[in-house]
Amino acid sequence: MRILRLILGDQLNYKHSWFSRRDPDILYLMMEIRQETDYVLHHAQKILAFFGAMRAFADYIKACGHHLVYLKITDSENRQNLPDNLDLWVKRWRADRVEYMEPDEYRLDQQLKMWAKKQKIPVVCLSAEHFLTGRHDFAHMFEKSDGPYIMERFYRKIRRKYHLMLDSHGKPWGGRWNFDKENRHFFKGGKEAPPVWESSADWESVWRDIEVSQCQWFGEVKTKNLGFPQTRQEALNLLNHFLRWGLPHFGTFQDSMNEAYPFLWHSRLSFALNVKMLHPMEVVLAALQAYQSSQDRMSLSQLEGFVRQIVGWREFMRGIYWKHMPAFATLNFFGHERPLPSWYWNGRTRMHCLHVCIRDSLRNAYAHHIQRLMITGAFCLLAGVHPDEVDRWYLGIYADAVEWVQITNTRGMSQYADGGLTATKPYAGSAAYINRMSDYCSSCYYDPHEKFGPRACPWNALFWNFFIQHREKLQKNPRLGPVYRNLNRMPQEMQGRLVEKAGQVLEDLEKI
Ligand code: FAD
Ligand code: SF4
Repeated sequence: MRILRLILGDQLNYKHSWFSRRDPDILYLMMEIRQETDYVLHHAQKILAFFGAMRAFADYIKACGHHLVYLKITDSENRQNLPDNLDLWVKRWRADRVEYMEPDEYRLDQQLKMWAKKQKIPVVCLSAEHFLTGRHDFAHMFEKSDGPYIMERFYRKIRRKYHLMLDSHGKPWGGRWNFDKENRHFFKGGKEAPPVWESSADWESVWRDIEVSQCQWFGEVKTKNLGFPQTRQEALNLLNHFLRWGLPHFGTFQDSMNEAYPFLWHSRLSFALNVKMLHPMEVVLAALQAYQSSQDRMSLSQLEGFVRQIVGWREFMRGIYWKHMPAFATLNFFGHERPLPSWYWNGRTRMHCLHVCIRDSLRNAYAHHIQRLMITGAFCLLAGVHPDEVDRWYLGIYADAVEWVQITNTRGMSQYADGGLTATKPYAGSAAYINRMSDYCSSCYYDPHEKFGPRACPWNALFWNFFIQHREKLQKNPRLGPVYRNLNRMPQEMQGRLVEKAGQVLEDLEKI
């Protein structure tokens, strides 16, 4: 039987069972297509990271003795979309059967299902053998609920399932499941921040093809020292680099922001994980081992903080995605309608926090979680930007952006457009928060302590305006009790002035 097996660009699983056996009747098919470069405007480094990693993976699979056809973006016979290329290769290979791995994006899942329906030969979908939970495990776990979902409950279940960081009685190490409270320190400098890992692979030839293809892109082009691994070996090097330098202080500074250090103690493993070069369990077990072999130096809160992100948040977001798509992509709880300010595409704003986070995202196709959540995301929330616009920006700018994890974080966690499925409260912060957790305010045109006047920090009026405008939807949320108690104590006249000031800020949004 002649089999055609499709491998998508985020399915670079070097350890997949498909590759355990060579078979001359199996042809693997990979493709770089305009369908994928063009569905949203992408950062140059995102396209480069994907194509570079795909090509390296294809070379490896071929070197292992498998048959593989790789369609480059510039190949004349490349039909630039998934169904047409599949049609061509089903015919050429005279395939009796097609197999593909479960796509992680709803869009591609639908496209392949539609294509499969039209075929006269069997088309079979198999596991990508990557996640710790099945696509629908979350829905089963929460079958009696349509949200809000509590991540902590989910996280504990997964830790129990894999017996992670539990003693022989099933109790969590250190007597606690959660060390979040110890993980909220601002990094003032003074301590050595970790050295920055860079890829030493050659990206030049991949970039030349992207240029020839004339696909559209934005952001800084870089063909040397990229922040993303090209091969599995590079992904393992990045993991080891993180275990040595990042993990020992990961938790302590995970919420911190510092202009001079865009990466701090973060792992930067999201791209390698999302394209499946690394398995989440392999990463977690490596972290456990690093912790155990340095127990006297590393506190448990560092390890737990990291494991929570991978075992908890990452799998949780995927569960919500598959339970709530496609409706999730249309949610707009607050009815926000404003366009994204144009300076999101170039970083030209006097608000230094936004300037730094956007500038660094354009440079690196990366920002860490708190920059995404509490700066670029929170500002869109307070300014009432339409979630579609916010999604498009996040999906384009970060190399790790694949819809299942991008949209749940953006539309869900950061914009609260899902009305609280993913997050128990909207993540809205004022200048006080940014000033406490970063050094951005010290170089800013605006004054974080001022609410009114030409130099008043725009976040302050926007923050109160947001909670005033959405009082009806939010005031019963127990996590917002302190905010509404403060607001209720605030004189009406003051509330009126804040709303008026916010109105001016929103009117001048392009110029602030
Ligand atoms: P670290 O801080 O080192 O964390 C370790 C790993 O934990 C990450 O690599 C990631 O795999 C996982 N992780 C951490 N937080 C989350 C989370 N909230 N959801 C899922 N996984 C998590 N992550 C993406 O992978 N792709 C995205 O497109 C994406 N878009 C986001 C958009 C917004 C608005 C927000 C608030 C968050 C987004 N995240 C996204 C989650 C998180 O910000 C990134 O995973 C993280 O910043 C990647 O950097 P890192 O590898 O250094 O992470
Ligand atoms: Fe951002 Fe306001 Fe601080 Fe400036 S003063 S960096 S705008 S929070």
